[in-house]
Amino acid sequence: MGSVQESPMPDLSHHLNAHSRARHESPLKAIIKYMAVDGMISVAGGLPHSSLFPFESVSLNSYPASAVLDAENPKVPGDLDTWTIAKHPTSEQPLNLATSLQYGDGRGEAGLLKWAREFTKLVFQPAYEDFDILVNSGNTDAWSKVVGLLCEAGDSIICEEYSYPSAQSNWIPLGCFAAPVKMDEDGMRADALEKTLADWGINHPDQRRPRLMYLVPVGSNPAGTTMRAQRRKDIYDICVKYDVIICEDDPYCFLQYGDYEVEATTTGGQPGTPEQFLSSLVPSFLKFDYQGRVIRLDTFSKTLAPGNRLGYFVANKLFTQKLLEATQVETQAPSGWSQAIVFGLLSKWGIMGYVQWLSSLRDQYRIRRDWMCDAIASKFDVKPASSLDIPGAEGLVALAKGTSTPIFSFVPPTGGMFIWTRFYLNTFPAFQKLRADESCKDPELACEDALWVDLCEAKVLLIPGYYYIPWEGPTKATTKSRGGEAGIGHFRLAFSMSSKEEMNEALSRMATVVDAFLKK
Ligand code: PMP
Ligand code: PLP
Repeated sequence: MGSVQESPMPDLSHHLNAHSRARHESPLKAIIKYMAVDGMISVAGGLPHSSLFPFESVSLNSYPASAVLDAENPKVPGDLDTWTIAKHPTSEQPLNLATSLQYGDGRGEAGLLKWAREFTKLVFQPAYEDFDILVNSGNTDAWSKVVGLLCEAGDSIICEEYSYPSAQSNWIPLGCFAAPVKMDEDGMRADALEKTLADWGINHPDQRRPRLMYLVPVGSNPAGTTMRAQRRKDIYDICVKYDVIICEDDPYCFLQYGDYEVEATTTGGQPGTPEQFLSSLVPSFLKFDYQGRVIRLDTFSKTLAPGNRLGYFVANKLFTQKLLEATQVETQAPSGWSQAIVFGLLSKWGIMGYVQWLSSLRDQYRIRRDWMCDAIASKFDVKPASSLDIPGAEGLVALAKGTSTPIFSFVPPTGGMFIWTRFYLNTFPAFQKLRADESCKDPELACEDALWVDLCEAKVLLIPGYYYIPWEGPTKATTKSRGGEAGIGHFRLAFSMSSKEEMNEALSRMATVVDAFLKK
């Protein structure tokens, strides 16, 4: 682990689907590089004339990397940086609108690519030197391009037991299926993965073994789990054994927190140094990837703002070439505004400045995580699962106030933006009625839905857990048929965007609804 691999990489070309194998570079794009040859007069490309772009300059006011953030009282830092991108380059600002708003290289703005390479080397230390970078319009776009690169109709894709639904929405219409693998506190379980792959032919005689894994390894959406280094190594080794490509969708990578202690929220204290921040991060799958079988998806959505629609792939050169060929005829490139403004900010901050920003940002979301967990602890009686005899409970159990009735359990997340609750539906008479009703095909789902409706009517909006159940095909549509846990439902709570007061109010409404639901 960690040392850069010099031996030849395995040929992974058999992973490309027929569509991407048949792709070729757009001939019009291939000619663009000649336009930069010294002395060349191009009458080749149908490029609009930049003097006719009706934008002369853009002025920006941005936070300095060292901005002091305050979760309790969010306000604009006093010392904003003011800067301009003009139509033409100047000595202090080489970025310019004439280039950024023109058709350009689908790989991305050259400076941004260089920045991303340096950042990736510093932060993730890939195990091979020859990795490549290609920009995209964020991880949603990136994952859709990965599906377009590798998947064939009928394929199964390995994913976590509970998985991000927008990722699945890409493969379902293609005729692909999920192959979910059980999780624990550390995310996907390596033993369960090995078993799924080893027994694949016995359990799925008509489907080829999965060749692609989709993972959210930090602050998993929805389960909130973060995968530690040893588990990553174990999973990587299994993927080598069974020739599986790993796609690491990592939007929450920099939002990694320590453990939660009940009602011990601190206001953040002194921020650590950028170096301390970097050494606190779990390693990316890239660090173990001596074979180039990891496609890492990095996005600025959670670190700067999602409306930038900007991210980048880190992958082997064969895959980025085919992703580039798709990019050239699909999105061409992310918006020139976005690339110029984001790269302008990153250049201003410098790499260690960005790391400093990430460190402050992480502290802000950690405080919010603590607020949400504290809000649960104030509206329910919260006890460690280890002190109670509840099968399958991990982390903390929320009991109805003043009673010994378990309502849900949750593992306080050490990363991301979500708390994944595990509801004990057996507690509710309404669930027992649904279970006794023969016409009810899926009592767990029906009960979760009924509770969600009551919560929504009380004006507290959660996401019902069934949204995150991977789709294994029409024969596994109910909790029972897919071997789901009897008597268990889930809800996902996001702690990223409410104030402390709103979180307390939301949990108070939730406790009231639960009390009423217990009497239904
Ligand atoms: N279609 C045609 C026929 C074109 O000539 C061009 C621009 N050269 C495009 C599409 C690309 O359009 P856009 O920049 O909106 O993606
Ligand atoms: N992947 C996961 C797991 C997410 O949770 C999200 C955001 O909600 C995204 C991707 C979307 O990322 P982007 O804004 O980069 O498309």
